[in-house]
Amino acid sequence: MSLSDRIETLAQWMNQSSKTVVLTGAGMSTESGIPDFRSSSGLWKQVDPRSVATVEALLHDYDLFHEFYTMRMNHLATCKPHEGHKLLAKWEKKGLIDRIETQNVDGFYQAAGSEQVDELHGSIQTVRCQACGTAANKERFFNKANCTACGGKLRPNVVLFGENLPEDSWVSALQHMKQADLVIVIGTSLEVYPVNQLPTMTKGKTVYINKGLDRPFHSFDLVIEGKAKDVLQRINEHL
Ligand code: NAD
Repeated sequence: MSLSDRIETLAQWMNQSSKTVVLTGAGMSTESGIPDFRSSSGLWKQVDPRSVATVEALLHDYDLFHEFYTMRMNHLATCKPHEGHKLLAKWEKKGLIDRIETQNVDGFYQAAGSEQVDELHGSIQTVRCQACGTAANKERFFNKANCTACGGKLRPNVVLFGENLPEDSWVSALQHMKQADLVIVIGTSLEVYPVNQLPTMTKGKTVYINKGLDRPFHSFDLVIEGKAKDVLQRINEHL
């Protein structure tokens, strides 16, 4: 099937679906200028972010942890949602999609106008105390200040490797997956557990959109190779 046929097929499925859920990963934000993890060579001092975004680093190498997240938060402040994020918000308003389940922590779906979003890996836009959970402002984190309530270390509200997902978001994601009759997966390597299990939990049709297919994705009903923004714009022409 040609790329155009695949895009047209997905648009038809979306028009017919009564409940569509979108699952996204870092590849949805690379066209906003935020690097993903897998294509991260040179992203940050040749250090694999996956070795820094951990509870271990937070507890035992806070300087490194702090530097990594300060860099990410400062960079994020220079980026904004792209046309693809805006289309997802528009489709939600038109009733074409019901929910976004995202591994992204950048908050770009809400910034673009989406309201039905589960942030499965938390948000980098807010900060709390690691010890007591009290919320703090970003400036205190940037200044490496401690928690005003207990003196603990401050951290962004992201889910670190080694931590559980926020329970309410995870329960919501499971429910939406089970009820969906179409699941569209965009820009994720599906390497991170447990979110990578979600596409297997639907009885609906499944679609995988990615700029590069490094392995076969036979379990999906439809696979579309292309950049998220371009593919979403092309789908929109058929809706
Ligand atoms: P990943 O880096 O493992 O995979 C990204 C995938 O997106 C890759 O398969 C890549 O081929 C694809 N991709 C890159 N650019 C694309 C584009 N323009 N269009 C379509 N596909 C594109 O990221 P992941 O699967 O999300 O999982 C890793 C973790 O990274 C997650 O836990 C997530 O929280 C975190 N992360 C988040 C952000 C963010 O919030 N924007 C950024 C980096 C990493």
